[in-house]
Amino acid sequence: AKGKVVVIGGGYGGATAAKYIRLFSKGRVEVTLIEPNAQFVSCPMSNLVVGGVRQLQEITNPYTGLSKHHGVKLVRDYAVGIDPDKRLVKLKQGKTLPYDKLVLAPGIDLIHNSIEGLEAANATGATIQAWKAGPDTIALHQQIAGMRDGGNFLISIPLAPYRCPPGPYERASLVANYLKQHKPKSKVIILDANPDVISKGKLFKAVWESQYKGILEYRGNHKVTGVDAATKTVKFEFEEPVQGEVLNLLPDMRAGKLAVDLGVANLNGRWADVNYQTFESKVMPNVHVIGDSIQVAPLMPKSGHMANSHAKVAAAAIVSQLSGWEPNPTPLLNNTCYSYINAKEVIHVASVHAYNAEKKTFLTVEGSGGVSAGPTELEGQYAWSWAQNIWADTLV
Ligand code: FAD
Repeated sequence: AKGKVVVIGGGYGGATAAKYIRLFSKGRVEVTLIEPNAQFVSCPMSNLVVGGVRQLQEITNPYTGLSKHHGVKLVRDYAVGIDPDKRLVKLKQGKTLPYDKLVLAPGIDLIHNSIEGLEAANATGATIQAWKAGPDTIALHQQIAGMRDGGNFLISIPLAPYRCPPGPYERASLVANYLKQHKPKSKVIILDANPDVISKGKLFKAVWESQYKGILEYRGNHKVTGVDAATKTVKFEFEEPVQGEVLNLLPDMRAGKLAVDLGVANLNGRWADVNYQTFESKVMPNVHVIGDSIQVAPLMPKSGHMANSHAKVAAAAIVSQLSGWEPNPTPLLNNTCYSYINAKEVIHVASVHAYNAEKKTFLTVEGSGGVSAGPTELEGQYAWSWAQNIWADTLV
């Protein structure tokens, strides 16, 4: 193999792809990773920071392992466009970079205007999403810590698909855990646009009944349409408005902005349609889209573990193509999502997804995966180890 690959976005998908293209090509393919952030701050485990259990520093890692151990060229910049005919990436600071193959992994974009008034409320700090980990994660924790005892924490969930199906339920549980200890008169109210808890539903509901009765309330079919920052009131399509003190409103989501701007997010302008054997875009040749930006196959979550798994399949396909070989026709992906339900106990869901040549999609392998019997501290140790392992696999 030889050639030049540019990777846009150094998150779970992009950073893994950069490393594995170097490994699979035995260092023969030149890889440049474009990422504006100085360090990798993990969304997985960030709900522990929101819930006051861990510090942001503990979920932050450097990018330097990729350059030191694997020879990835790190460019701290933001890609503003590409020329697919000339195969050039344009950077914000003015440079252009040529590529033979491009990996596009820009994560998600929050569609703020899917909730009327959200943009204005965000601008004054009245609302914070913290659905991309970083300073907002700390700011949301501070809002909760500053809330009066008796104030309500509202978290709203958009219709699926969105980033991390169990993430909002984990966050609600960890905030309830914090309130139980520090503000016993306060409540968490989950306002879910979906009809029911869409991930680990039975497990979460059992925990809410046994550990957070009277503290956490779940309301399905509650699609938020607007927010009034002055009165801290959330409005819905049908139901009566609800007032709260800390508002964590998650709007609809779509592929990262660059994928949308380029038209690569060709499905309703929201998600990128890819060939699942190679993760190459169906509308832009030589552009491989991975991670949360893609249209997922049935029962495939938008998760960091999945993005890491997409990255390895895409990296192998790219190195094969640059070597003149046929890519593996039947790739396999796997996923485990751990969710903390308090500071120590965890539940998980796992699955294996195999490419089905006839249906041209990934299907879950029968008998693979499943969910926990119930929350345990042992799974709490597994969850923290999972994070250490995936950070090492992605970055070191
Ligand atoms: P990201 O990891 O978001 O990476 C995208 C990167 O692209 C960013 O670094 C961004 O700066 C960069 N970027 C964007 N545009 C450009 C551009 N134009 N130029 C250059 N760079 C650009 N997943 C799990 O597997 N397990 C969990 O326990 C889990 N918990 C979660 C909890 C929370 C609260 C949240 C919010 C998410 C959680 N997830 C979890 C989901 C996981 O974070 C995402 O699925 C994962 O980050 C997707 O990877 P990605 O590479 O697509 O996007």
